[in-house]
Amino acid sequence: MSDPVKFLDLGKHHAPLRAAIDAAMREVIDTSAFILGKQVGEFEQAFAAYCGAKHCIGVASGTDALHLILRGLGIGPGDEVILPANTFIATALAVEFAGATVRLVDVEEETYNINPAKIEAAITSKTKAILPVHLCGRMANMRTITAIAKAHGLHLIEDACQAHGAKQGDTRAGSFGVAAAFSFYPGKNIGAFGDGGAITTNDEVLAEKIRKLRNYGQKIKHRHEFVGFNSRLDTLQAAVLKIKLLHLDAANALRAQHAERYRKLLAGTSVRVPTAASPGEHVYHLFMIRHPQRDMLATFLKERGIETAVHYPFPIHLMPAFAHLGKERGSFPVAEQLCAEILSLPMYPELTNAEITRVASAIREFSTR
Ligand SMILES: *Cc1c(COP(=O)(O)O)cnc(C)c1O
Repeated sequence: MSDPVKFLDLGKHHAPLRAAIDAAMREVIDTSAFILGKQVGEFEQAFAAYCGAKHCIGVASGTDALHLILRGLGIGPGDEVILPANTFIATALAVEFAGATVRLVDVEEETYNINPAKIEAAITSKTKAILPVHLCGRMANMRTITAIAKAHGLHLIEDACQAHGAKQGDTRAGSFGVAAAFSFYPGKNIGAFGDGGAITTNDEVLAEKIRKLRNYGQKIKHRHEFVGFNSRLDTLQAAVLKIKLLHLDAANALRAQHAERYRKLLAGTSVRVPTAASPGEHVYHLFMIRHPQRDMLATFLKERGIETAVHYPFPIHLMPAFAHLGKERGSFPVAEQLCAEILSLPMYPELTNAEITRVASAIREFSTR
């Protein structure tokens, strides 16, 4: 059998950047400024500018980014936060960490994102925030959701952990709501060499609060103003991310080209491909197709050396960790159906046309057998 088609090949992505990254890491090691060294501030500035936001605060992970935004806004016990039913578990975990209550809303068939038409029914007197997720790198319908948040006086928080660089109109993910959370988990569109995350915001007071929250509740050393956390972006990771950010747009453009190629080659097969979004509105963190016999298709591809993944096999309400929400199967039918049918195909900038053709041919074979 020929070489496997990998789901993701970080080695290929890092090879051309390696010399620059090695030098940047050596510089950090030479200065021993491992905690909040100058590269953290430099990356924060660059990433804020890239997202079109005034402030960026580097933190230890995307999960922490979400958690610290909620804390920074004073959202906690007795408050409700609205989020989609089919996101990565971390979106819901962050709400729990803050002591607030998760209110799930079903998603749209076409975009897999929170269905704006179903948000208002979930708003109660306890609702404090709407937390849409730009799943797979496709923007949630921010125009409509912004209007709903405004009309009800709610905070709008973006989970942009899969959407570095995505735009809606002229506005980038990370500058729509009061704040946005990004993850730099290695496999994300910009990944660190370990865990990392960031918050973007235009709100100076919130930015200042979160800077303290990530650093034991202090601005000045040993002046602890409130109970904070230890959640800082490592200087080493910031040094890596500074270099990777320079290549993000080019990498996202390649992802979009691969998506077009998949779309063309998969037309007329039995899989359902995601509909095209306007250029820039989707940065293809994942290319997620649908098929009623998803598990059979995944096995068929695996036997032909093609790696795939499922993001995510269970909606939030059907996982034991969230049994306390008391939502039975059938509560969020679209999310439940998606979880049974979705399959993420290999997607990363360095994927070759030959590999995409091989994946598409195998799917065509499955679909005509
Ligand atoms: C990756 C991810 C997170 C969490 O980020 P970590 O850095 O892994 O903590 C949160 N939400 C979504 C949608 C993600 O994809």
